[in-house]
Amino acid sequence: MTAARSCVVVGAGLTGATVAWQLARGGFKVRVFEQADVVGGHIRSEWLRGVPYEPHGAHIFHTCDSEVWRLVSEHTAFVPYEHRVTIRVRSNQLSWPLQRSELAQLEEWPRIERELAVLPRNPDATNFATYCRTLMGDTLYGLCVRNYTMKQWGRDPESLSASVAANRVELRNDGHRGLFRDPYQGWPERGYAHLVESLLADAEVHLGQPVTHSDLADLALPGEPVVITSALDDFYTCELGPLEWRGVRLESQFMPDVTLAQPSMVVNEPDLAVPWTRTIETKWALEKLHATRGTVIMREYPGASAKHYPVPDSAGSNRSLQAAYEAKLASYERNPLRAAGRLATYRYINMDQAVRQGLDTARHIVESH
Ligand SMILES: Cc1cc2nc3c(=O)[nH]c(=O)nc-3n(C[C@H](O)[C@H](O)[C@H](O)COP(=O)(O)OP(=O)(O)OC[C@H]3O[C@@H](n4cnc5c(N)ncnc54)[C@H](O)[C@@H]3O)c2cc1C
Repeated sequence: MTAARSCVVVGAGLTGATVAWQLARGGFKVRVFEQADVVGGHIRSEWLRGVPYEPHGAHIFHTCDSEVWRLVSEHTAFVPYEHRVTIRVRSNQLSWPLQRSELAQLEEWPRIERELAVLPRNPDATNFATYCRTLMGDTLYGLCVRNYTMKQWGRDPESLSASVAANRVELRNDGHRGLFRDPYQGWPERGYAHLVESLLADAEVHLGQPVTHSDLADLALPGEPVVITSALDDFYTCELGPLEWRGVRLESQFMPDVTLAQPSMVVNEPDLAVPWTRTIETKWALEKLHATRGTVIMREYPGASAKHYPVPDSAGSNRSLQAAYEAKLASYERNPLRAAGRLATYRYINMDQAVRQGLDTARHIVESH
């Protein structure tokens, strides 16, 4: 094997698998090292007595990137699914994002209506809390967003960047109840593991192999490109300190006699007295299963040690630490090292962005070798 036409990939999640697939198309021999005993990373879905469930959280594929959609659809069949989320406020089930027309059912409606009438033209982006309060008023923010955010992030919303809200919080008035507006949306009929396995078909995959920077001399030839999709604080064994992450823990419950247990795939729970943040019923994604008996509910609890969400603190200190790790990566001379994916870039990215990053990273390597 020559260094010029081979490559090492760390991590067999969606990003690493896409890198491997695109590099193989470019004539590269690809070796993938994955610390877990299975491929798929965070998006891996499982089946229990014919019912799909997602041990790491709900995943809906949605994109406006036609190349990405074509690629994933070539690797596995997607069924159409428009994702719906509901939020439970006491006994009221509201659409999420909130729809103005549904708010009159809340007993606080007269106050909410007065607050909506005097909102500024643009939200105040000082921090998460100011953004939401000036987007929907204090009452709606208190009922639907503040406590959910406290549970989800384990910190005061004022200490979070407004960018978190800008991507997730909306007040709609258009009747569109799907969470996403992308032209391509769906769920893979055979689950996400099938997609990732298909992308990895031409790569040599080593499972149960955690990799850090000190393994590079053994795993990669001098000059051989290495794509890292694991977290950089792990890769550098926390040399510069740990990056801050927020994780969730999911608990599953099989209900043998129930067809569908809740009104939508995801139900948000903003009440502080409820210890979980949301419940997930992936079965909603596959309409052909709706009438069959048996379903799986996953309760998502906040505050686990897993690396799920990078924490965009309003002071920006976590991004500064990530930048310092990226500088270390760029200064390594023996191999060209590239970071891609949600962990290595310390950014929340959707699956379509993971695929896009994988494609672009691989193409850059093919062009420069
Ligand atoms: C709760 C939650 C819900 C989400 N829902 C959606 C959704 O509905 N729609 C959507 O588009 N996106 C969603 N996402 C985002 C989606 O999960 C990511 O886009 C996707 O997982 C990115 O894939 P990745 O390969 O970059 O990361 P990962 O899937 O995390 O893959 C990284 C891989 O690297 C391996 N690894 C880690 N460290 C090492 C090491 N030291 N050595 C070797 N291997 C290592 C891991 O085991 C893993 O297999 C969600 C994310 C979260 C957290």
